[in-house]
Amino acid sequence: MSLFSKFKNNLQKTSNFLSSNILNSFKNNKVDKETLEELESILISADISLDVVEKLLNSVRKVKSSNQDIAQTVLETLAKEIEIILKPREKKLLQENDLKSKILIFVGVNGSGKTTTIGKIASQISNKKTLIAACDTFRAAAIDQLKNWAEKSGNDFYKGDPNQDPASVAFKATEKFNKENYDYLIIDTAGRLSNNTNLINQLVKLKKVVTKINTDTVIETILVLDGTNGSNMIKQVDIFGKELDVSSLIITKLDGTAKGGALISIANKYEIPISFIGLGEKPDDLSDFAAKNFSRSILNLEI
Ligand code: GDP
Repeated sequence: MSLFSKFKNNLQKTSNFLSSNILNSFKNNKVDKETLEELESILISADISLDVVEKLLNSVRKVKSSNQDIAQTVLETLAKEIEIILKPREKKLLQENDLKSKILIFVGVNGSGKTTTIGKIASQISNKKTLIAACDTFRAAAIDQLKNWAEKSGNDFYKGDPNQDPASVAFKATEKFNKENYDYLIIDTAGRLSNNTNLINQLVKLKKVVTKINTDTVIETILVLDGTNGSNMIKQVDIFGKELDVSSLIITKLDGTAKGGALISIANKYEIPISFIGLGEKPDDLSDFAAKNFSRSILNLEI
């Protein structure tokens, strides 16, 4: 399946909502006060923030009512405008020809999809010596789940003792990474309550430890967000982003929500790249984020 088909198939909840409502609103081929108001409320219902909605409405206002197929023109206009917002956020996290080794620290609240996403990434990596470290020492189930993904994907796994200080597990894992010349170190962390300052402090400490003993490796801090939370994701970017200098976002579960528009709000608000999106539970249901694919898919347009 092409990457675009994957986006198109798995973003159907958002695209069905947006395209069917927009086609219906503009079925009389008119751009006027009434249809623009309808469009506004459709976009807001898809969890697109007001500042983005305003931008989109401004571009649709310029569509001439004399145009033959207004509804289609509106969809095309929206897709172009959304692509312009999303394009600067495209960034590949891992490249096959990465010359430098990388340490990836995954953060995010419990249930956001961290472990599954790490598993998917691990199974997509090829020709790189990779170590996966379980630093969520509070949840035995999370450690087992991660171990399982590591084994399935044929990658090495490191875990500490139950309830051991996560930073000390990360320290040991980073030492192993240094000594044994790994290409990638993937660190899973605990994710209880995002407003729990202890959690954030603990993650800051973990990152400091890793950075201290590894000065020449690229360290990425990746925030995993549950896409079904819609615009509530913004709160989490604020909490995690401020203290942890998040360098990349991954938005999961976009297959399970009609609120995919929230991704656009995030791209508009933060200059943080979006590296992957989660489109299902299977290992290959994690795609590099692609602005054009996303913007055209959610409006049910072809590429
Ligand atoms: P963690 O607590 O952050 O490590 O979250 P998990 O990785 O355990 O994921 C929580 C749940 O979300 C699991 O049931 C996953 O299978 C599910 N999940 C993760 N990513 C996706 C996705 O992209 N789509 C769907 N539909 N489910 C997902």
